[in-house]
Amino acid sequence: MSAAGIEAGSTTRKFAATAAHLTRRASHRIARHLPLAPRLMHNSTPLVSFTFDDVPESAYTNGAPMLEAYGGCGTFYVASGLLGQRSDFWTVASADEIADLYRRGHEIALHSHLHRSSSLLDVDEFASDLQRNREALQKIHSGIAARNFAYPFGQCTLARKNQLNSLVRSSRSIYTGVNRGVLDPHYVRATELCDARFTRERLQARLDETQRSRGWLVFCIHDVSDTPSAFGCSRKFLDHALEGAIRRGIRIVTVDAALDLIAGTATKPIPQKKPVFAQELSCG
Ligand SMILES: [Zn+2]
Repeated sequence: MSAAGIEAGSTTRKFAATAAHLTRRASHRIARHLPLAPRLMHNSTPLVSFTFDDVPESAYTNGAPMLEAYGGCGTFYVASGLLGQRSDFWTVASADEIADLYRRGHEIALHSHLHRSSSLLDVDEFASDLQRNREALQKIHSGIAARNFAYPFGQCTLARKNQLNSLVRSSRSIYTGVNRGVLDPHYVRATELCDARFTRERLQARLDETQRSRGWLVFCIHDVSDTPSAFGCSRKFLDHALEGAIRRGIRIVTVDAALDLIAGTATKPIPQKKPVFAQELSCG
């Protein structure tokens, strides 16, 4: 092929890649604004969920005990293909550590197996990866029946959102804000609790808004450390969020328990503000 022909081919490929990228972005934007199964929120108290994506080891060693000290349980979104692996930022928790979290009452939830953006997968690839994720979690502990999902990188399309509607109970985004009034269960808003990208002032405002609107605030957290990564949360910041929630009467619950309370179907009491370091937890 001539030099001009090679250049024309390269330009065509670049154009196609840009067009595909723009299509995915547009689809994500539509998915954000178009609730597929909106639910009126019936919770009688404001709620907060502390969720941990990818589950770095420090989320297990530091994050989970801190929640337990406040009588709460977290939701851990596990990308099963990453377990035990070292990334540029952290080492991911092991299968044994995930099993331990489950035994201690925390919710274990889906985050795909290979941690690929759902916007890059077609219907079959996405279904098969999610099934792999589900089976891997059940292998870790036969009691784990994961029902809730978080989009890897927060990215989705209208097609994947629609697909998830029949596969899981909820899908968490990373679109910031408080869930209030009407919930879009497949685009649950979340606030990243990260020292580098969020301030104490904004945290206070978010907690105030949750209390005032009787809403549901969902925190998205990665590592928890005194020296957190660029995506991480210091122990002080996490403690500030926990203490701020308790002080305002905002109940700390898992995502699954929050959905029960929002639907008005919760049947068991959810413990609050009870030191439970060495006890079995039952947070739903
Ligand atoms: Zn992730």
